[in-house]
Amino acid sequence: MAKTATKKVVVVGAGMGGLCAAIRLAAAGLSVTLVEAQPTPGGKMRAVASDAGPVDAGPTVLTLRAVFEAVFAAAGERLEDHLTLIPQPILARHWWPDGSQLDLFTDPAQSAAAIEGWAGPKAAQQFLRFNALSAQLYQAFEAPVMLSDRPRLGGILANTLSSPALWSTLRPQQTLARQLAQSFTDPRLRQLFGRYATYVGGAPNRSPAVLALIWQAEAQGVWAVQGGMHALARALAGVADRLGVAQLYDTSVEKIAQKAGRVARVILSDGRALGCDAVVFNGDPAALEQGLLGADVQRAIPRAAVHPRSLSAWVWSFAAEPKGADLIHHNVFFNANPADEFGPIAQGKMPQDATLYVCAQDRALGPATGLQRFEIILNAPAKTTLCPHEVLECRAKTFSPLAKFGLTFSPQPPDTALMTPQGFATRFPASQGALYGRSPHGALASFQRPTARTRLRGLYLAGGGAHPGAGVPMAALSGKHAAEAILNDLTLA
Ligand SMILES: Cc1cc2nc3c(=O)[nH]c(=O)nc-3n(C[C@H](O)[C@H](O)[C@H](O)COP(=O)(O)OP(=O)(O)OC[C@H]3O[C@@H](n4cnc5c(N)ncnc54)[C@H](O)[C@@H]3O)c2cc1C
Repeated sequence: MAKTATKKVVVVGAGMGGLCAAIRLAAAGLSVTLVEAQPTPGGKMRAVASDAGPVDAGPTVLTLRAVFEAVFAAAGERLEDHLTLIPQPILARHWWPDGSQLDLFTDPAQSAAAIEGWAGPKAAQQFLRFNALSAQLYQAFEAPVMLSDRPRLGGILANTLSSPALWSTLRPQQTLARQLAQSFTDPRLRQLFGRYATYVGGAPNRSPAVLALIWQAEAQGVWAVQGGMHALARALAGVADRLGVAQLYDTSVEKIAQKAGRVARVILSDGRALGCDAVVFNGDPAALEQGLLGADVQRAIPRAAVHPRSLSAWVWSFAAEPKGADLIHHNVFFNANPADEFGPIAQGKMPQDATLYVCAQDRALGPATGLQRFEIILNAPAKTTLCPHEVLECRAKTFSPLAKFGLTFSPQPPDTALMTPQGFATRFPASQGALYGRSPHGALASFQRPTARTRLRGLYLAGGGAHPGAGVPMAALSGKHAAEAILNDLTLA
């Protein structure tokens, strides 16, 4: 470690991947500067002001708690000394236009009992088989993919060849939608478990069947963060501060420059140059490929590592008094037919009829009254333009269907409460509004995503656009992979 002690690293971006990389590098004794374009840490994990206090405008579902405990532990701290995580007894409440409603739980037997009461014993048996398949997939992919610095085909094969039940999920043409059609007779359960593809920015009919393992991440438990998800980012920034990470907010890195074939310095928006031995880029990797960080790093990753793009979203964040539906923390209001959502999205259009996710932020501890905070998310295609009547159309496609479910909000949020794909495209340079990096569509998607090491010595990636992919825990793991790669490479240099 002594050899790395005087080494300087610049981390570009205080999103989850950047924060986690900065903490691990500083904990290992390196001199770390974190540069963030926005005024606060968190990136997509952000909050906006409302009459009921800060309301989440990004991620809301926290899974894989152990990943975050490990980050605090790497800094010699304990998560519970910084954050209160509230386990959610019901993972999510699901609603359908036919009036049916289903809660799912961490305990598979409890979920199966709920499904049996709702759709009969055959559906419950099918759920238990699917749950077992998903658990096996999770186990088979955890070590060689999520916990590995890059997807290891040998490890995947070793873990799956001995499990015949998994073989069908690995067939190149086997999409998640096809797998679910084989697993479930009830179309509502196909729709419910297909939705997990959207967690990483894919459509169920174009994403590989292995994404069935995402259900297992949620089945292991869902936590609400007291004070909102952005409290996690603030806590991590505090830990980084205590470790001596210099944090520059409201400051962009405009250029990453190389010398003699390795990263040498970054140029900041205020004109300063910071010399460094390594750079972790936590922005969308597409920004490198598009030349936004200068010609020196443009060829650091191949185009196929960032194209095609994943899904975007329309996101309402607001405070209002709700009426009508018995909401819990996480609620999903399904549309009648998934094709009416994913068909138009594939053509770059707004869904004819959208599935609506409603986070009732103030219901983490149970029912609430009066003015409460909400985040509502609709899946969207990645795009950089705003159509003339888009906000009006999105309002109609959000609040009219919810009213049919009996759920109304008073007052309805103003137009300014809506974040559009174009808004995301502006906020996250080169993303084109895509929220999860490269699209997960296609059998080889996880092998095409960029890894922490790039083609340029000294330049590393962390974040949802890099291996092992999108979602808060995966972005946190990408920060670990980047830090380990740097510590390893600088020790050997
Ligand atoms: C609406 C929404 C809902 C979501 N829901 C969930 C969920 O429920 N559960 C879940 O696990 N995940 C969810 N996700 C995904 C999750 O939020 C992301 O995968 C994760 O937060 C991405 O982290 P990241 O490390 O890629 O950094 P990002 O959040 O992408 O942040 C990158 C940071 O880098 C900064 N930056 C970029 N370029 C520069 C530069 N040149 N100079 C300085 N700074 C720069 C940006 O300003 C930004 O702050 C959701 C995402 C969104 C948007």
